[in-house]
Amino acid sequence: MDELLTELQQYGTAECNVPFSAMTTLRIGGNARYVFYPDSDVALDAVIRMLNERNVSYKMLGKGSDLLCSDDDYDGVVIRLDRHFNDMYFDGCEVTVQAGASLIALAVAAMQRGLSGMEFASGIPGTVGGAVYMNAGAYKSCMGDIVREIFVYRDSRLEWIPAEICGFAYRSSIFQEHPDWIILAVKIMLSEKNKDEIAQLMEDRRKRRFASQPLEFPSCGSVFRNPEGRNAWELIDGIGYRGRRIGDAEVSTKHCNFIVNRGHATAEEYITLVREIQDEVRKKYGIELHTEMEMFNWH
Ligand SMILES: Cc1cc2nc3c(=O)[nH]c(=O)nc-3n(C[C@H](O)[C@H](O)[C@H](O)COP(=O)(O)OP(=O)(O)OC[C@H]3O[C@@H](n4cnc5c(N)ncnc54)[C@H](O)[C@@H]3O)c2cc1C
Repeated sequence: MDELLTELQQYGTAECNVPFSAMTTLRIGGNARYVFYPDSDVALDAVIRMLNERNVSYKMLGKGSDLLCSDDDYDGVVIRLDRHFNDMYFDGCEVTVQAGASLIALAVAAMQRGLSGMEFASGIPGTVGGAVYMNAGAYKSCMGDIVREIFVYRDSRLEWIPAEICGFAYRSSIFQEHPDWIILAVKIMLSEKNKDEIAQLMEDRRKRRFASQPLEFPSCGSVFRNPEGRNAWELIDGIGYRGRRIGDAEVSTKHCNFIVNRGHATAEEYITLVREIQDEVRKKYGIELHTEMEMFNWH
């Protein structure tokens, strides 16, 4: 058996040659050589030290709901927290939640306790860690508004850092500048509110999402960030790309800022469509569209 796999299995669950198409919501990508689910902070620390010593690269993965992975295999270790790091501890209006917890599950748990502040997140299919990294948001709210402290593993140390130093801005955070930092848990501050009102708001938004987003097909949510003062979907509609298809990658007819996988789209087809849109929008509007989803394992 593979030596590294055997070592990883001492510290948690580990698997070999797992396709990214099975680990991302877009259902695209080559294989990851190893996938590792650490059992504990101590196990994670031991593995990171071992990988650094051996010069093996690693990549944190939440639910893979914001990633476009290339068709190539990744010769490193994908580390996931969503099996063993998903506890939530409520204390009054504060919740301490581990980074592998589902954001949607957290929003529901908060609602059930009559705690408001997570309603915006009830349709975002990521983990808490991925949501902090991306500063995920919707309906004019975002993670940066409610996160108070973040428990981070960096430079071989575990520490709580205040949200004020995390540079939360539109879909960005300090973590994007430090891909080696690992978010392990978060303290979130919520406020008391009538449980039924929270549930109603979440239900209204769920209906709105189903009406406006192509949730029946694999996607990574919005592909492009909205440029200052404009909506990306309007620009894409404006260049006539609604429904434009390359292979199995298709600009959604329902929401132009979603590019969906209609079956067996390759990363190459997907990125060709993304680049065409960027070129056409630049030509017609003189606006540079930047991707919101992250591209991983492209050389
Ligand atoms: C249908 C659909 C709707 C969506 N709607 C929205 C929306 O309304 N608003 C929005 O903002 N986004 C939306 N998204 C995008 C996506 O769900 C969010 O960005 C989400 O926060 C990503 O979380 P994830 O756990 O899937 O992260 P992943 O996609 O797995 O990873 C994203 C990045 O975070 C890093 N990361 C993950 N976990 C950790 C960790 N513990 N420590 C350090 N780094 C980590 C990864 O390395 C990667 O760089 C949508 C996606 C889909 C498919």
